[in-house]
Amino acid sequence: MAILVTGGAGYIGSHTVIELDKAGFDVVIVDNFSNSSPEVLNRLKTITGKDFPLYEGDILDRDFLVSVFEKENIDSVIHFAGFKAVGESVEKPLEYYHNNITGTLVLLDVMRQFNVKDIVFSSSATVYGMNNVVPFKEEMPTSATNPYGYTKVMLEQILNDVAFSDSDWSVTNLRYFNPIGAHESGLIGEAPNGIPNNLSPYITQVAVGKLEKLHIFGNDYDTPDGTCIRDFIHVNDLAAGHSAALNYLFNNENLGFDAINLGSEKGYSVLEILSNFEKAVGKEIPYVIDGRRAGDIAVCYADASKAKKLLNWEAKYTIEDMCRDSWNWQKKNPNGFKD
Ligand code: NAD
Ligand code: UDP
Repeated sequence: MAILVTGGAGYIGSHTVIELDKAGFDVVIVDNFSNSSPEVLNRLKTITGKDFPLYEGDILDRDFLVSVFEKENIDSVIHFAGFKAVGESVEKPLEYYHNNITGTLVLLDVMRQFNVKDIVFSSSATVYGMNNVVPFKEEMPTSATNPYGYTKVMLEQILNDVAFSDSDWSVTNLRYFNPIGAHESGLIGEAPNGIPNNLSPYITQVAVGKLEKLHIFGNDYDTPDGTCIRDFIHVNDLAAGHSAALNYLFNNENLGFDAINLGSEKGYSVLEILSNFEKAVGKEIPYVIDGRRAGDIAVCYADASKAKKLLNWEAKYTIEDMCRDSWNWQKKNPNGFKD
């Protein structure tokens, strides 16, 4: 019995593969390397001593997915594969809707064909939109401000409808807050293509000398230091959340659809993160204050009590751990997996 991990060569997927292996699950990876490198598999082998079965291909390709399900005895699926860059989704909405939504529809259809009806899905805190008040709780209304966010809102609805239509389905829909950090080995981590959109890789690329300075998007928010506040969570904690979600699926039947936040419940401002990175790196990191970025909300952090209650999971890593591990990865791999 194996867990199919779509997008298992990506940032969160690769860390989750290690955690699943530690927890004793057999893992099968599907990835088309559209936003990752085959080198990840070598690094995973160095860390775990295992050669995980890897099927290179696209989840949009039904015949390909069918061939994976025919060869492997898949018991449940963790579905990470998708595009995730907000700005790019505004420029390429068709590509985003096709890859994220059609890809998931094809996957669900093949799962149904093989009577595999347990899935853990990667959703995002972005579905809380602009109008909710922190801390964000799962029952709050969802909305989006860009095509990427809409793919998550729509996929949550689709998964909800699928679970409602057939009680054999169990969907654990995990809403991640802001993942940062890396495996403590420094062998795997976040390796964005081009100029990073997200705060943490931008800061570490400034620190390593690849970028000149950080641009902070706005210091006129209604927060103590004027910069936005986010709930940062170590990617290893997220990975452990997936293992906990699988145990929840295996120990319960016919769960229907559950949305569950994975966050630390703590909010740190952009300036606070920067100062934590400066401590980890041991030097000042230059920055300028720019205007606000469209679509950013002032404050975002989780109520993670549902994860604690249902999954027996809570975040353990501190902000110091997160900055240390992000930096360790960046300094050892200034060019990501090309090094
Ligand atoms: P990532 O880009 O590092 O990983 C996604 C992986 O999926 C990549 O290896 C990519 O090559 C693969 N992939 C994409 N489309 C595919 C397709 N059609 N067929 C096969 N493989 C495909 O991203 P990540 O940060 O690891 O995120 C994983 C999931 O978590 C995504 O669904 C993302 O939207 C979601 N998420 C991420 C964040 C974040 O900040 N990183 C936050 C919330 C939610
Ligand atoms: N941010 C920033 N400069 C950057 C990238 C991000 O000031 O180069 C800010 C952004 O405005 C937000 C926070 O950092 O307030 C986190 O942004 P990120 O894109 O990492 O995650 P998001 O919360 O948007 O998912």
